[in-house]
Amino acid sequence: MSKVYLTGAGPGDIELLTLKALRVVQEADVIIYDRLANPDILKEAKEGCEFIYVGKEDSRHTLPQEEINEVIYQSSLKYENVVRLKGGDPLVFGRGGEEGIYLHERGVSFEFIPGISSAIAVPEYAGIPVTHRGITVSFRVVTGHESKNKDHSQIPWENYKSDDTIVFLMGLHRLGYICKKLIGIGKSKDHPVAVISRGTTPDEKVVVGTLADIVEKSKDLEAPALIVVGEVVTLRERLKG
Ligand code: SAH
Repeated sequence: MSKVYLTGAGPGDIELLTLKALRVVQEADVIIYDRLANPDILKEAKEGCEFIYVGKEDSRHTLPQEEINEVIYQSSLKYENVVRLKGGDPLVFGRGGEEGIYLHERGVSFEFIPGISSAIAVPEYAGIPVTHRGITVSFRVVTGHESKNKDHSQIPWENYKSDDTIVFLMGLHRLGYICKKLIGIGKSKDHPVAVISRGTTPDEKVVVGTLADIVEKSKDLEAPALIVVGEVVTLRERLKG
């Protein structure tokens, strides 16, 4: 009887992998992995384990999701222990739900293994808490990658007026647009913003600015990167360690 583990690999630092994820990786007959999953995790696999790279990258998908679903399904017909390893948490903009539904419809047994999401851990490593008593009562995680239909934004910008902290994933290439939209709903041009590239890894880069100047300041940063908007960004001064 085959089982598929839809597994979170954490945000980059290999030590942020959970014990459960490590165990299924060590037991895996095949590991289907993403670009965002730290490749060093694969060294933990047993001898003879097959590796299948389906490198997804922000808007550029090496394989369309439908094909990834099929690769996972086909692997479950061939092997007993199948690990689908995904960056961060499999259900935070990870499309793990689609993979689960695909398997469910084909009668394949599967399990989600949560991972530490970059949405929280990457700001945290940079000294930015997503909530802080007296400053924020909420945080929101939003996709910065919208459908190509420019006339219709799927993001309900008006709802974000009173939001304390907003974390944008997949938004680096849309940073200018995001800042414009936030200023458009009434946020101050001085509102603090941070962009963090390759968080939790030795290549981490953090740029802090405002809605008015962050685009210029962060133009050399590379993906993967996320954007944190809110007063919490100013805590970095004292929390970056
Ligand atoms: N499931 C993942 C998110 C997938 S969406 C999670 O829970 O973390 C991919 C986006 O996550 C990237 O475009 C980037 O915005 C963010 N991201 C993932 N890893 C990151 C890292 N190490 N540093 C900065 N951003 C990261």
